[in-house]
Amino acid sequence: MSRPAPVLYSPEYECDIGRHVFPTQKFRLVRDALIADGALDAKDILPAAPASRDDLLLVHTPEYLDDLEYLRWTHRTRMSELPLTAAIVRAYVMAAGGTTCAAAEALGRGVAVHLGGGFHHAFADLASGFCYINDLAVAIRVHQRDGRVRRAAVVDCDLHQGNGTAHVFRDDPTVFTFSIHQEHLYPVKEKSDLDIGLENGTGDEEFNRRLAAALPRVWEHRPELVLYQAGADPYEDDQLGALKLTIEGLGARDALVLEGCVERGIPVVVTLGGGYARQVSDTVRIHRNTCALALELAARAEVDRLGAPPRPGGTG
Ligand SMILES: [Zn+2]
Repeated sequence: MSRPAPVLYSPEYECDIGRHVFPTQKFRLVRDALIADGALDAKDILPAAPASRDDLLLVHTPEYLDDLEYLRWTHRTRMSELPLTAAIVRAYVMAAGGTTCAAAEALGRGVAVHLGGGFHHAFADLASGFCYINDLAVAIRVHQRDGRVRRAAVVDCDLHQGNGTAHVFRDDPTVFTFSIHQEHLYPVKEKSDLDIGLENGTGDEEFNRRLAAALPRVWEHRPELVLYQAGADPYEDDQLGALKLTIEGLGARDALVLEGCVERGIPVVVTLGGGYARQVSDTVRIHRNTCALALELAARAEVDRLGAPPRPGGTG
């Protein structure tokens, strides 16, 4: 028997944020789509657990975490474009735990999927966009603290720049931050180790050509863990952006990142990031495709490591 798929999820990600462009139901819908396709067995999904305060403190300041805990609107939380409720804060704390746990799975197995996370706009002491807790940064810091990795990289292919992640790791030579995004758009840009700001209207060919040309810079860093922010919002029918990637082009993007990691033996974690297509079903399909490719690669890595599972009869 092969082991359960390395997939993390929590039903608590689907929280009430009022009428909003961010469809928090997408996490459940992506999970359901993977199960319906047979890519994932419901009983194999690992439950995300909330990140501890000690883990969050590796990235975030105590004052900011107190604002979140006591639901205080201050200069630190006010930049959020979400309400501030206990359930919402809980969802972000869970997502930080989910990405951390998915990274642990990836370190053991090569590839893991978090059906959540990718909240790259959160700063150490500041909410930003739809992000309260930077799960990507927390996961990397936890595994560095625990001695599981020294060098890591974030490959951020969301429509928006990973400004919070770039800022958290700005003076840290052990973590390489790479962001490819629409230039003329939220947020105010921070400086990643490598930024590619794309013009409005950029489509599949140019996006993937420039991504392919940039990835060697990530490999040169020799990361022992890659966190992939696989935002669905570079999609041509996204409500927030003006990039023009098709669903097929986004699949080619995923293959460049995920196969690039697997070919080099670099553990990689998928996080979902943004996605605001006019039709939520398009966002779900894009995320579903990313996750299905990652699961296929995870299964292949398992076979490479352990050999093919024995056939019934025991002669395999
Ligand atoms: Zn985004």
